[in-house]
Amino acid sequence: MTLQDFRPMMERCSNCLNCKWVPFDKLQSMRFGENCPSVCYFNFNTYSARGRFQLGQIILDNDAEYSEEVTNVVHNCTTCGSCDVTCKVCRYNLEPLDHNIELKKDAVLKGKILPGQKAIMQNLTLEKTMLVGKKKNSRTDWATGLGLKDLFKDHAEVMFFPGCKYSYDPKLAEAARFSAKLLMDHGVDLGYLGEGDACCAGRAHQMGFEEEFDNRSKANIKAIEKAGVKTIVTPCSDCYHTFKRLYAQKGLDVEVLHIVEYIDRLIANGKLKFTKEVQKKVTYHDPCHLGRQGEPYVAWQGEEKKIRNQIHTWNPKRPRYNGAYGIYDAPRNILKAIKGIDLVEMERIREYSWCCGAGGGCSETNQDFSLWTAGERITEANSTGAQSLVTACPWCESNFAKACDENGKQIEVLDILDLVRQAL
Ligand code: SF4
Ligand code: SF4
Repeated sequence: MTLQDFRPMMERCSNCLNCKWVPFDKLQSMRFGENCPSVCYFNFNTYSARGRFQLGQIILDNDAEYSEEVTNVVHNCTTCGSCDVTCKVCRYNLEPLDHNIELKKDAVLKGKILPGQKAIMQNLTLEKTMLVGKKKNSRTDWATGLGLKDLFKDHAEVMFFPGCKYSYDPKLAEAARFSAKLLMDHGVDLGYLGEGDACCAGRAHQMGFEEEFDNRSKANIKAIEKAGVKTIVTPCSDCYHTFKRLYAQKGLDVEVLHIVEYIDRLIANGKLKFTKEVQKKVTYHDPCHLGRQGEPYVAWQGEEKKIRNQIHTWNPKRPRYNGAYGIYDAPRNILKAIKGIDLVEMERIREYSWCCGAGGGCSETNQDFSLWTAGERITEANSTGAQSLVTACPWCESNFAKACDENGKQIEVLDILDLVRQAL
């Protein structure tokens, strides 16, 4: 698609501004009623989904160029998708998130990028990771001694994919090792891509670098298909979304599970039982790419039609991603199964969850914005009285931890896997 293809949507946007707010029937307080980190932080309407539709129209009409300010607006979107689900509370014919990403793609094609983005893409091309400074030859260190099958030499039913964050961060790598070991201990025929393991590049897509995403995804899909696995399991929510939605769109046809779904299954089947009590009051943060963007891809081919030159329909009916069928229950089931855990909910949860601030490349290119967004979520978590903020994504976990270290926010930040490990 091109930006031009979004022109009908730009024209259809009705300026209702639902994209800035939690839906009124879910709203509990004004303090935690807003939903778009970008427009909240920059406090200017152009940063909202509505503003971005207007900006797209202005760019297409050649009434504005990608000045430094416009380039900043375009890229300072975490691609959290919150505007997308709140817009769809009333509208069925707009895709604000796809448009936000298309706007980034248009800027990238015209060479309008932010400082730092070039180095990230160079590292992706050379070292197969978007974590600048990290090298390909240390990517598999986390798996040393685990006995995982190498899918280039051996066959396995299930592929474990830790993703860049879990692979390179020594603290997080422990959780990756634990996950893989847990699956093997419970009889899962598990392998990984070994030397062929590389970034999923979902972040490149979120940042509008489509060529880089395309190259990496094609190589990964080829490797996965060659390995012949039936299922991919990942503990990273970003990778989960990339495989389940973006790669599926490119033809990858395998089951994709987040580790929380696999653990939830093991608990439901009676194969995994927690034996230890963990006395803690916790609250759970829904990662954007596991929650509202974790819905399965539904293939669709059809055409847009107008009834009486007014009402938009699609023939055949088009799938509608409104976040309702994301992965929300599996992590909560796990927490509820651990004796001693007292789960208290924040105001903005499930598809209306507030973003952690790390997405869309913002944690790399605008740390102030990214950490402010994380800090807002920690404030919301603190308001529940919870001791710990638990999540199921290494990007969220790292950003929350950084907001505590650098912005003086206070709460214990935990990966849900940390609690599973303590309870076994
Ligand atoms: S993007 Fe959607 S929610 Fe926002 S103003 Fe337009 S129609 Fe309303
Ligand atoms: S994707 Fe998130 S940050 Fe970007 S405009 Fe929508 S709500 Fe705001």
